Amino acid sequence: MKQIAGVLLEVVQGDITKMEVDAIVNAANTSLLGGGGVDGAIHRTGGPEILEACKRIGGCPVGEAVITTAGKLKAKFVIHTVGPIWRGGENNEEALLRSCYRNSLQLAVEHRLHHVAFPNISTGVYCYPKELAAKAAIDEVVKFLQTNPKRSLERIVFVCYEPENTRLYQDILDKLENR
Ligand code: ADP
Repeated sequence: MKQIAGVLLEVVQGDITKMEVDAIVNAANTSLLGGGGVDGAIHRTGGPEILEACKRIGGCPVGEAVITTAGKLKAKFVIHTVGPIWRGGENNEEALLRSCYRNSLQLAVEHRLHHVAFPNISTGVYCYPKELAAKAAIDEVVKFLQTNPKRSLERIVFVCYEPENTRLYQDILDKLENR
């Protein structure tokens, strides 16, 4: 656990659908119509209300984020963001992945949310290398917190489904200075 600009950053191993937070972030695809991985788990557990809200929104470009109800989930909202597909690393992947984290936090702040949980966006079927993704994710969240002093956020949880990601995130967080 680390504290950055008054906000707790935490790593948890487990299933993001079980998190009792204000918002969980979904690694969605541009159609917002559901898919496999964490997206499938969120829609399965949250029920049809989430899909209906996604259909009304109609889609989301890569790197951007939208917010919906969380249906039957314990969280209050789902923030759907679309990560980049890894295509070798020279196709703007890092900037797009960073904007997923930044835009998701921006939405959370606009809705005055306190606790937000992120999955490891793009590191499943989108094949983003796990260590690079973890570094970009944590660095972008830290930057956001340091450059947005007036905000509602109190705790941000990185929910890792795979032990390898838990280790990577823990190592990077351990090396961060408390600021
Ligand atoms: P993407 O298409 O963005 O790669 P995936 O859902 O395939 O999305 O994978 C993103 C990450 O979510 C992976 O690290 C995967 O292990 C993880 N994941 C899958 N199911 C869950 C879950 N229920 N809770 C949290 N993370 C999950």
